[in-house]
Parts: sequence; C-alpha cells; structure tokens
Amino acid sequence: MNRLHTARPEGPSAYPQAAELELRHVQKRYPGQREPAIPDLSLKVEAGEVCVLVGPSGSGKTTAMRLINRMIPLSGGDILLGGRSVLDRKPVELRREIGYVIQQIGLFPHLTVRENIATVPKLLGWDSQRTAARVTELLELIGMDPAEVGPRYPSQLSGGQRQRVGVARALAADPPLMLMDEPFGAIDPINRAHLQDEFLRLQARVRKTVVFVTHDIDEAIKMGDRIAILRQGGRLAQYATPAELLTDPIDEFVAEFVGRDRALKRLGLSTLADVKLLSLNGAEPSDNRVAVTATVRDALSAVLAAGGAPLTVVGGEGGDQVLGVVTLELLGGLLGDGGLPDPEATPETAPESSA
Ligand code: ADP
Ligand code: MG
Repeated sequence: MNRLHTARPEGPSAYPQAAELELRHVQKRYPGQREPAIPDLSLKVEAGEVCVLVGPSGSGKTTAMRLINRMIPLSGGDILLGGRSVLDRKPVELRREIGYVIQQIGLFPHLTVRENIATVPKLLGWDSQRTAARVTELLELIGMDPAEVGPRYPSQLSGGQRQRVGVARALAADPPLMLMDEPFGAIDPINRAHLQDEFLRLQARVRKTVVFVTHDIDEAIKMGDRIAILRQGGRLAQYATPAELLTDPIDEFVAEFVGRDRALKRLGLSTLADVKLLSLNGAEPSDNRVAVTATVRDALSAVLAAGGAPLTVVGGEGGDQVLGVVTLELLGGLLGDGGLPDPEATPETAPESSA
C-alpha cells in the first residue's frame, strides 16, 4: 500500500518518518519556583515506539512535552531528536516538524476540517495539489469520509471527531515525532476506548515515534510500548514495558500506581492465542464460546459470568473453528507472577499448562 505517498519527505524536513528521541539530564526550573519542576530526567524512545509518560498531577508531564518542542526553554541538559539537539533548531521550524495533540484540541473554529488539516503543509509551502491529496489521504486514514466531513467546521463535529481531526492535523506533514498530551482526556469512556483502538491501528501503519501523556495507568498500559512513571517533583520512578511494570514494580510507589490488581491487569496484555489451551479430548464443545482473540482477562470474566463453566475457544478462518477449551483453573493458574509469557517475548516461550 502506498497511501502515505504524498507525505514522503522531500521538502525542508530534516528527519526520516520516525526518529529516536533522547532526553539527557533534562532540567526545568520555572522562574520564581523554589523547586525545579524536573530536576534531572533522562530517557530514550526508540524510533517508531510509543512512550507513555504517566504520573500524578504536577509531576511534570506537560512540562516535559513543552521542553521537547521548545515551547518553553530548557534549564539544563539536552534533548536529541534523530541524534540532533533540538537546541540547534529554530523553535518555529522544530514545531512544524513535531506533531502536537492536546486535550482541548484547539482546531481553528473559522477553518473547515480540510483547512485545519492543511495548516502545516501550507506553512511548509506544499503546492495545493499535494496538500489536497494529503488531506484526503489522512481523512481516510482516520476513518472519515472526506466528502462528508472535509467541508464541515469544528463546531459541527462531535468531541471524538474533533479529536480525530486533531490527530490527522498533527500527522499532516508526516512528522518524525508526535507529542500527545492527554489527547483523549475529555472524551467519555466508550468513545475514548474507540479512539484508543483507532490510534493503535493508525500507529501500526504510520509507526511514528510518539510521546503520549496520561494520568490514567490503564490507558498507559494499553497505549505504551514503554511507560515512564513520574513521581511528584518530576522524578522518574520507573521506565519499562507494561509487562515489566506489572510484574516487577520497582517500589511501593509504582506498585501503588499500577494498582493492587496488577496481576489481573497483566492478564489484559495477553490473548488466548498466547495460552496453551486444553484439548476437548473428544468431548462435546460447550455452547459458551469465547474468541481466541479475547484477552485472558476478558476470558476470565467470561468464565466467571458463566458460573465457572469451561468455555470453548473458537477462531481461525470464519472465526468458528473450535481450538480448545479454557477453564477457571487454567486461567487462575496464569494469575501468579511468571504465569504468562511477556507478550513482547517470542510465543514459543509459553509455559506448559499444568492442567
Ligand atoms: P503535569 O502535566 O504532570 O500535571 P506540569 O508539567 O503541568 O505537570 O507541572 C509540573 C510542575 O511545574 C507543577 O508543580 C506546576 O505547578 C509547575 N508549573 C507548571 N507550569 C508552570 C509555570 N508556567 N510556572 C510555574 N510553575 C509551573
Ligand atoms: Mg499536564
């Protein structure tokens, strides 16, 4: 597929489509404040990865984002994008090359959806044909009908639609880095889950380097390749994959932050495809069915809802092939530490089931 064709870097962009980001001993002191908002923050985000910054209010998440695109000045340390210091770039240029999505999305109310998305390509001097093709492509990418939604004004959209247009606008010039500050924070839970799923699908295609801020640990676990947990005072508590955080929280603060139900949450990271299922052994499959694509956590809920009865796991082409059985005992056995493989690891490492 070559749908992203119109965005191939040929203009002034100095970066590939996704670039590594590195914070080196970053320090931020606001004028007149006794304590620094960020005393000394170092972390690296690989090109094409989603890094989630999570932490309590006031822990410096927004500050870190604004330092990256130079909306506010660094007090110490350095930030490298694609190996180049952001301090060597003109802030205005840098900001055109970094997509930025915030909670109250800030679409221009007097511009149509198409015009909003075209903002940065226009600033970069793209010709109108290339810009128009890119806008159409992005609207399709976020699942919106260009003919229907393109001519509308932001006030004629739902909150969720506005947020999606905001994401499209941030992606318009194919930036090597996207900064997303609580992008779905103001959206109701159901639409929020849709937006999260949609963003993950989008990210699987565009593979941007993303820094995503949230105060919601469940959102962090769902969205992040790696999660940086900040504590009060802007200090990094732990930087690890979701599975590592849920298995090995480094201290009480992190354990408390990821939640007492972390064993259950960990079950949400794996699907039944990761589990060694029990075989039917010639028995008649029960009518209680669960898809092999369900998370282990959802399967456990389904077993409990069925009063503890075993479930038939179905999948394959057409989705109705019987693949095996899961029982309460099997799923319960996965709850302990080490009960499930790290989903990042290769599937062959799945442990033998004891049942
Ligand atoms: P978060 O996004 O994690 O809630 P912020 O980055 O907004 O946290 O804030 C981190 C700390 O810096 C807080 O103590 C906040 O009060 C302080 N702070 C943020 N912006 C400013 C500012 N413009 N001037 C002074 N202090 C600020
Ligand atoms: Mg904030």
